[in-house]
Amino acid sequence: MPILQMRIMFMSGSINHNKKLEFIEKELQERRNNNNLRELNAIYPKDAVTAIKNGKPLINFSSNDYLGLSKHPQIITTSQDYLNRYGTGSTASRLVTGNYDIHKKLEEKIAKLCGKEAALLFNTGFQANSTIIPALVNQKSLVLCDRLVHNSILQGILLSKAQWKRYKHNDLSHLETLLKKAVSQGYNRILIITETVFSMEGDRSDVDSLIQLSQQYNTLLYLDDAHALGIMGDKGMGLTAQKPGIDISLGTFGKAMGSFGAFITTSKLMRDYLINCCPGFIYTTALPPAVIGSIDAAFDIIPSLDQEREYLLQKVDYLQNNLRNLGYQVINSSSPIIPVMIGNEKKTLQLSQFLEKNGILATAIRPPTVPQNTARIRLVLSSQHQPEHINYLIQLLQQYHES
Ligand SMILES: *Cc1c(COP(=O)(O)O)cnc(C)c1O
Repeated sequence: MPILQMRIMFMSGSINHNKKLEFIEKELQERRNNNNLRELNAIYPKDAVTAIKNGKPLINFSSNDYLGLSKHPQIITTSQDYLNRYGTGSTASRLVTGNYDIHKKLEEKIAKLCGKEAALLFNTGFQANSTIIPALVNQKSLVLCDRLVHNSILQGILLSKAQWKRYKHNDLSHLETLLKKAVSQGYNRILIITETVFSMEGDRSDVDSLIQLSQQYNTLLYLDDAHALGIMGDKGMGLTAQKPGIDISLGTFGKAMGSFGAFITTSKLMRDYLINCCPGFIYTTALPPAVIGSIDAAFDIIPSLDQEREYLLQKVDYLQNNLRNLGYQVINSSSPIIPVMIGNEKKTLQLSQFLEKNGILATAIRPPTVPQNTARIRLVLSSQHQPEHINYLIQLLQQYHES
């Protein structure tokens, strides 16, 4: 019998086409039942802190635009200028014809501002984490990561096929116990990877101690600085800038930079290696000119925003203290990310809906983004929030708590 005919017989015999999508319906139904179903809701970003949803203006307490730079006139103008001069797309991978002088100059500028030997652009933080890690470690390696690292880091670890263990959140003595055990176990390499500011908690890790442990146990060290860049460290260059002893620091342009994309700072040697061996760098079209323009301008502006950074951290303290006084459970965060812990998914959704009804956008964050029973409202402050915005939020949360 011809092979093609056999295949057709086999397929029609073994797959019931009416049922092949049943697993999808089942999964979605389960999520609906658990109040975990995710849906896309369109908004219009009127200004840095106002979102229009269903025709109604809402004060946005969920975006990562910490400095309101997505609407900064100078950044928009520079982006338009790059767009006019270079066109809409970069037309190919960096390794083909997509490597413009603007990509190269931006990398040199970032490396200099961060006090590192080299920088390398990536299209997103997700793409960087999920494809750099597998270029660094393999089946014979061990990865040690914080229990709460971002999903893009987990994807990278899984793709690498390395052995991996998670240490308790921000517990570096647990990390050291794992390191002590690991050094005699014959791994070809050990990689420590964590975030400097945790995206769903807002707390920080101890960068200096991580560097020290990495040196003591001779491991690779990879730090994800996505939520520190722009708002922390000297001149807003993040918590890893100017610090030797970190093999790779990741920053993203989609948060405080108000744009899109990502970069790492690293050594020249590591940069050369990734240009040759990191699929997420090689097999993708370079960032488009308009994006490069916006990032270039953002790096000119961010060092001068010390006042905004100070205002922001003052307001973090103010909001946290007020919420605690009202009886809310708030993670002790030292960043503009302020998670109000509710626990139960349904209650978290109810609070989010109550806020929205009253003019505030504050998204519910539910498992599996965060661990079971830790659903939360992740409030995010921006330097563009005025005191009356914050006081109105506090007033609403008081009203909710008392009702
Ligand atoms: C947002 C984020 C990323 C992903 O960055 P994108 O550029 O948005 O893909 C990676 N790591 C952390 C910690 C993040 O918060």
